[in-house]
Amino acid sequence: MISHCPFTLTRITLREIRLPLMEPFHASHGVEHERRILLTELEDSDGITAWGECVALSSAGYLPETIDSAWKLLPETLAPLVIGKEIAETSEVHSILKAATPVNHMARAAIEMPCWALVAQKQGQSLASLIGATRSEVSAGVVIGMQDSTQALVEKVGLAIDEGYARVKIKIEPGADLEKLNAIRSVYPDVPLMVDANGAYSKDDMDLLISLDVFNLEMIEQPMQDLDQAHYTELQNALNTPLCLDEFICNLNDAVDMHSEKSGRIINLKPGRVGGFTSALQIHDYCLAHDIPLWCGGMLESGIGRAYNVALAAKAGFTLAGDLSPSRRYWKQDIVSPEWDMNDQGMVTVPMDHPGLGVDIDIERIDALTVRKEDITS
Ligand code: MG
Repeated sequence: MISHCPFTLTRITLREIRLPLMEPFHASHGVEHERRILLTELEDSDGITAWGECVALSSAGYLPETIDSAWKLLPETLAPLVIGKEIAETSEVHSILKAATPVNHMARAAIEMPCWALVAQKQGQSLASLIGATRSEVSAGVVIGMQDSTQALVEKVGLAIDEGYARVKIKIEPGADLEKLNAIRSVYPDVPLMVDANGAYSKDDMDLLISLDVFNLEMIEQPMQDLDQAHYTELQNALNTPLCLDEFICNLNDAVDMHSEKSGRIINLKPGRVGGFTSALQIHDYCLAHDIPLWCGGMLESGIGRAYNVALAAKAGFTLAGDLSPSRRYWKQDIVSPEWDMNDQGMVTVPMDHPGLGVDIDIERIDALTVRKEDITS
């Protein structure tokens, strides 16, 4: 379990890398062939280092934070608050950064999360064991992005099943939903299937969303943009299929609201999007105590961000398969060694006995991919 381990940060280095993607990524502003990634490297007064990753995308739209907004906030505001200060425990970093900016969860997490890996490294234990994770392997689901045709989508679903993935998630939006689901279900009537709309529907689409019940989906993730929880409560009441909240869950209060308002039954928890592990563990503990199914989503992280997600998903409350695809699904070559892998049963091994993050950092590759770098010191 987590023991007392004070530390003092002496350096935070920011890097932006451009990591080549295996397949183009359809972002809100266009197609990307490489992922812009903001990495952080922390060093403490004992010379121990730990790497982290900001999960923000390159442009706003899906969510307001971007790599560039984080790159501005980290050296100007957040890093000076923690560098040179003796930190008694990692949750203190969360409190300090949150007091400075209650929003900007992704920028905060880029400092907060590697503090956990740093403490794990100092104590000679894995990140997973530090946070009380108990599973030696975690179940991986796959996300299949928008395809050029329904036939192409059905073929991708078949390939994912053959690879061993525990469940398949597809993206839907108005006009690109019923045909896709009918096509998949006509070939694969029983495969664990879920849909994610990223808030593409409105409350005027409720009848359409209710009609999705016939597809026996594991869940419908974040269907509506409406911030009004009452619309989600109304929809959930009319549906047998559970609603899953993703973008709405930014802290523990949001999870409590979902449960009390009955506006959803499942949470997609992304530590890099809720301010880091302190917040993620609070949400996890609440969900475990209230029997709310939980799974770990992805933000197209490199192997560094993936290490945090795998460690977190090994906690007892993560009862559903996470978006924890192996490195080869996204990257031509990852920046960690060994790369993240998955067996033919769709399981990812948790590096429970490897101190710190659980994977080694490929610094030569990171150096080769770095397009800008900034050291922040005391
Ligand atoms: Mg989502």
